[in-house]
Amino acid sequence: MPTAFVLPDARNENPDLSAAERSRILAKAALFAPPPAELSDGRRDLVGMSREQLINEMGKIGEAPFRAKQLWHWIYHQGLTDFALMENIARTLREKLAAHFLIGRPEVIANQVSEDQTRKMLLRFRDHESVETVYIPDLNENRGAVCLSSQVGCTLSCRFCHTGTQRLTRNLSAAEIVGQFMTMRDAYGEWPSPKGEIPRLLSNIVLMGMGEPLYNYENVATAVKIIMDGEGIGLSRRRITLSTSGVVPVMDRCGAELGVGLAVSLHAVRDDVRDVIVPLNRKYPISELIAACRRYPGASNARRITFEYVMLKGINDSEADARELVRLIAGIHAKINLIPFNPWPGSVYETSSGNAIRRFADVIMNAGYAAPVRTPRGRDILAACGQLKSAAQSH
Ligand code: SAH
Ligand code: SF4
Repeated sequence: MPTAFVLPDARNENPDLSAAERSRILAKAALFAPPPAELSDGRRDLVGMSREQLINEMGKIGEAPFRAKQLWHWIYHQGLTDFALMENIARTLREKLAAHFLIGRPEVIANQVSEDQTRKMLLRFRDHESVETVYIPDLNENRGAVCLSSQVGCTLSCRFCHTGTQRLTRNLSAAEIVGQFMTMRDAYGEWPSPKGEIPRLLSNIVLMGMGEPLYNYENVATAVKIIMDGEGIGLSRRRITLSTSGVVPVMDRCGAELGVGLAVSLHAVRDDVRDVIVPLNRKYPISELIAACRRYPGASNARRITFEYVMLKGINDSEADARELVRLIAGIHAKINLIPFNPWPGSVYETSSGNAIRRFADVIMNAGYAAPVRTPRGRDILAACGQLKSAAQSH
């Protein structure tokens, strides 16, 4: 197993844990905690606070709860970062707010646009840790998805993933997760937020960047709730997809509390193969993972689960594998995204041939499932699936 292994917070709440075991887990989790909202000058960043926290902050400076509602609108609907522009707040209070708080953004360190218009930003946070955030436009439809990172690095060391070669440095805070989306919106001038479901260029979010979102569940959940709040950014759960490598106990919580779309990085249909390429499988094997998918809200009817399957030449791409895949997911409302392996410096695998991918897809489609082959996007700027890394490690 990977060394820096952090147990998901769902386990911290397990009533069967002994006090000693619980404190050991919490101590380990603290090692990877994001920086606090407070800056060295004492000001606190309002981005990433839940509505309750914001009300609480107002109380601390002697202001009424309705101020939190006003601020929420300016921060998340209008996208302001400057208190001075908040028209319905008196100047004296604006100055007081600016003395106590800020509305932060990560710093844009690099901003590259690929031949196919995919944009990759390297974003740096206050402690100088950085992640990559990608925007993938759908050029025919005038919409697109922002791919958010959830951790700096990853503990899980999947063998085909570039991020997996970078040890986990720390979890991202809710502010840093929401901040990635807000910074991308700044770049496309997409403030204020649309009323209701009016499509925009940044119409969808996928939590498929660096890190395992379900190993940083609390911060991811706070961020997703902020993004879904109808008085702010207002993106509905239907437009948000979270990708997990299969943290089974937290999948149930995610379904019950967030109800966002689920993508599962399956990648293999036999435990002996998946144990090697997705080491988390040794903890939560395929049978448990598929059972959790069946329990996920909507899996049997309303919403399809996306199974991601990276096509690795000679490893997981035979027709027998495809038939086994169909058998495994029988009864789950699903689509299978076939992802040609994206190489990165030092990677050991090869992409399956076009023929192998077609044969694999045919077996799945003949069983009645959609099996789109994901066209790699932004490969020229290393922005495609599994190619992301932080600044220090990329050269
Ligand atoms: N940690 C989460 C989300 C981030 S990875 C997860 O694993 O699901 C996003 C997707 O990219 C996953 O399906 C992952 O398996 C896939 N991926 C990783 N490396 C890849 C590579 N080199 N080529 C193609 N897909 C890759
Ligand atoms: Fe982590 Fe996902 Fe990469 Fe695996 S594929 S190492 S879980 S980011």
